[in-house]
Amino acid sequence: MSALDVDVAIVGGGFGGSLLALVLRRAGLRVALIDRGRHPRFVIGESSTPIANLVLQDLCREYDLPNVAPLAKYGTWQATHPQLVSGIKRGFSYFHHEAGQPFVADVEHSTELLVAASSSDQHSDTHWLRQDVDAFLFREAAAAGAVCFEQCEVGEIAPVEQVFNLPLQHGQFENLPHELRTRFVVDGSGEGQFLAKRLGIEDRTHELQTNSRTVFAHFANVTRWKRCLESHGIDTAEHPFDGDHAALHHVFAGGWMWQLRFNDETVSAGFVQDLNRGERPNLSAVAEWESWLLRFPAIGEQFANAKIVRPEGGLRNTGRLQRKLARAAGAWWAMLPNTAGFIDALHSTGIAHTLCGIERLARILIRSLGRDDLESQLREYERCVLAEVEMIDLLVSGCFAAMGDFQRFATATMLYFTAATSYERARLASVGEFRPAFLLADDEQWLAVVRRMCERLREACSIEQFEKEMVEAIRPFNVVGLCDSCARNMYRHSALPED
Ligand SMILES: Cc1cc2nc3c(=O)[nH]c(=O)nc-3n(C[C@H](O)[C@H](O)[C@H](O)COP(=O)(O)OP(=O)(O)OC[C@H]3O[C@@H](n4cnc5c(N)ncnc54)[C@H](O)[C@@H]3O)c2cc1C
Repeated sequence: MSALDVDVAIVGGGFGGSLLALVLRRAGLRVALIDRGRHPRFVIGESSTPIANLVLQDLCREYDLPNVAPLAKYGTWQATHPQLVSGIKRGFSYFHHEAGQPFVADVEHSTELLVAASSSDQHSDTHWLRQDVDAFLFREAAAAGAVCFEQCEVGEIAPVEQVFNLPLQHGQFENLPHELRTRFVVDGSGEGQFLAKRLGIEDRTHELQTNSRTVFAHFANVTRWKRCLESHGIDTAEHPFDGDHAALHHVFAGGWMWQLRFNDETVSAGFVQDLNRGERPNLSAVAEWESWLLRFPAIGEQFANAKIVRPEGGLRNTGRLQRKLARAAGAWWAMLPNTAGFIDALHSTGIAHTLCGIERLARILIRSLGRDDLESQLREYERCVLAEVEMIDLLVSGCFAAMGDFQRFATATMLYFTAATSYERARLASVGEFRPAFLLADDEQWLAVVRRMCERLREACSIEQFEKEMVEAIRPFNVVGLCDSCARNMYRHSALPED
């Protein structure tokens, strides 16, 4: 039986596993990357953020990845890799809807919230058509010398002294290696939960407060929201950016919808239901989608002529989206963040969280694989990843609790924007390695603020009182003027400064 010796075997060749493989190869480690699927394949989870782009940029600088570096900004992406479909994301836009009612807006923007993330199209964030980006990064990893397998399943792991044997099942390709001998295993399988199943790792999803599910697809012929607003005489002149060039959120009691528009004029869209406020409907995905559109007529208008273009099987609906495991690393293994835990698409934290995990884990493996401090470094990695999952859960579940009361919701989002902008600015100002956890998850003072304000959110305090307390609570971390009543929900100074 043929066997292959590597330093690190990565199970799961999504963008996370592929980018980690590429980075480790650049540092000279022998890497195998195994995916049970085949690229290109449909994946959901597409909206990147300034933090994601800062980390991607730093990874590309640290490990000399000139082909990947252009993906960190919309302008360089278009100039260098126009064949990889992307979308422009200038920020986050939110619009409040009441069931059965048309969308209404007022001069105070009391049903709208726009928070800028970048100040020009050239420097803006992006939506990633994941099937293109993931396939590209998988190819880059292979080109850098990672041994890559697709349509390959890994069997039971057998430890032999300091080495771990991974049997491979390749389907029809008989001449490929049938076993990997590796010193370390990384689980980047996401919901595939490769290691959790093999190591019997305890599921702690019940500890999470967020409880949501979704129905989604990619569509053509979705009318731009700006056009819908203008056709109803709603003025968009005060919007700091085009609300469609954004992670566009329609928000209502019991859930929300995402819309991410790509350059090919297709749109990733999904309704997310808060299961803390209602049962999953006993409907097919198509019937459920139609029922959401009927409930929110302004969104129905946007989708009147829409056609599903991806995935091949049409609309997908899910059960509960969240997962959290008790462990994220051990003596000879580690999980990427999206494998150890996932919360919700709200706040677009997934890509950035994965990139932060890659940055941290790559340094550990490059410096400590085979050394005595590996285990202690991995314990720290685990602590950090699980703290980040908890922080995301707090930030997201707080917003879910406020949906339906838009001013309370808008105020609740300020916790996320404070954490994100504070992290971004600190990272930009740092010299040398930046160590703080994603969204300041390891900052005790910040964690206490978030916990307290999430509790206050659920208590019956008036919105005026809640806003007042929020202004005070975030003050030490508020570096971009958030929670400013004079801004009337239109934040342009939150954009990342251009370099
Ligand atoms: C509905 C939804 C919306 C989201 N929206 C956003 C968003 O807007 N912005 C954002 O930043 N994040 C978003 N996310 C999160 C984002 O999708 C993830 O953070 C991201 O996919 C992580 O990438 P990854 O490569 O680590 O994992 P994945 O994309 O999950 O890739 C896992 C890979 O592992 C492979 N695999 C699985 N099991 C096995 C196995 N046993 N053996 C071999 N291979 C295996 C799979 O085929 C796949 O290729 C969203 C997630 C969901 C569910």
